[in-house]
Amino acid sequence: MSFTVTDLPARLVEKITVADGHWLWTGGWVNDAGYPYVRHDGRDQPAYRVTWKLLVGPIPDKTPELDHLCVTPLCVYPGHLEPVTHAENQRRIRERQTSCRRAGHDWTVPRNVRVRPNGKRYCAECDRQAQRAKYAAGRAAGLTAAQARRKLSSAVPA
Ligand SMILES: [Zn+2]
Ligand SMILES: [Zn+2]
Repeated sequence: MSFTVTDLPARLVEKITVADGHWLWTGGWVNDAGYPYVRHDGRDQPAYRVTWKLLVGPIPDKTPELDHLCVTPLCVYPGHLEPVTHAENQRRIRERQTSCRRAGHDWTVPRNVRVRPNGKRYCAECDRQAQRAKYAAGRAAGLTAAQARRKLSSAVPA
């Protein structure tokens, strides 16, 4: 499921910055745990519950809490949220990784974490480094190939 930020009312859109797939709430009003709030339908409520209700629909009674799969409290992107029970939410919070296993990149930094469509997180920083390594290897291989060609042509008798 993917969502478009401009499907939200303009007064909400202007409080959101889209970055690395997250919709980061920049409305400024954040509770002690780091979750943003906004006034909506005459009452103050978590901004990510508001975006969910507007773009997805009602939050099921059986799973009243929205878990941040991307573990980014400021994120209000519905695709990074999943309705869960309170117990499940607590269990996930206890088990959740805060850094990548391969290199220990800090996953509390939003740009370091990406979320697959199935909700699994992976390390954006490892991904960036792999891309850079691939690019560097490609360049190195390119140079080697050119050198190899030169060697080859010089070895061919004129
Ligand atoms: Zn997110
Ligand atoms: Zn990493």
